[in-house]
Amino acid sequence: MDRSLAYWLEEARAMGITDAPSLSVSPSQAPPQVPVISRGSGVEGLLAVEAWMGDCKRCGLCNSRTRLIYGQGDPRAELMFIGLGPNTADDSAGYLYSDAAGELLTKMIEKGMKRPRSSVFLAAVVKCKTQAEHPVKADELTSCMPFLKAQIEAVAPKCLVLLGAPVLAALLPGINDLAGQRGRWVEVAGVPAMPTFDPGFLLRKPEAKREAWMDLKKVMERLS
Ligand code: SF4
Repeated sequence: MDRSLAYWLEEARAMGITDAPSLSVSPSQAPPQVPVISRGSGVEGLLAVEAWMGDCKRCGLCNSRTRLIYGQGDPRAELMFIGLGPNTADDSAGYLYSDAAGELLTKMIEKGMKRPRSSVFLAAVVKCKTQAEHPVKADELTSCMPFLKAQIEAVAPKCLVLLGAPVLAALLPGINDLAGQRGRWVEVAGVPAMPTFDPGFLLRKPEAKREAWMDLKKVMERLS
């Protein structure tokens, strides 16, 4: 298989095409050292990150996962969305935003921003299953953060969208006031980033959709 197709195939699997091949990398292939990820290296860099992670057990979240969930989408996307981590549904499905919140996110991207979901990259701060009743601990965020930073380096998006207060706090320690920060550009790993509401929150509080849409319009203006 042409490896440059692999991440789009992951997205195809995410969209319900179940016979697309997996990107799984054998732990035995994992290099012992931190790889050098070239900026904008795309699928090559993303696969190096996966190999680096191997069968990661660097934090306690490994104990509850069915599988590692790396992220999916265009390896050279100009726009990357970052959530906190896979939930139980994602852990079962094998990809991020697999549930009703994911359907809403797809609508926001495709109907609102007028671009295919497959043209963006969906990533998460932690790659193992999270549970709403157990907030992700600081040491778990710290353990997994280098992988996300390396993914940002590989994809080299023009903009990030940070989905929810825990993501904002994880990426910008000390800032957890999403209501006060949303709609204002911040910077993460040298990339402009727009904090906004998580789609799961928008399902519970639909009246906040208008504010989320205002945030996404700023992202569209920046990309135009
Ligand atoms: S959450 Fe990240 S650091 Fe922790 S075990 Fe999973 S992949 Fe490793």
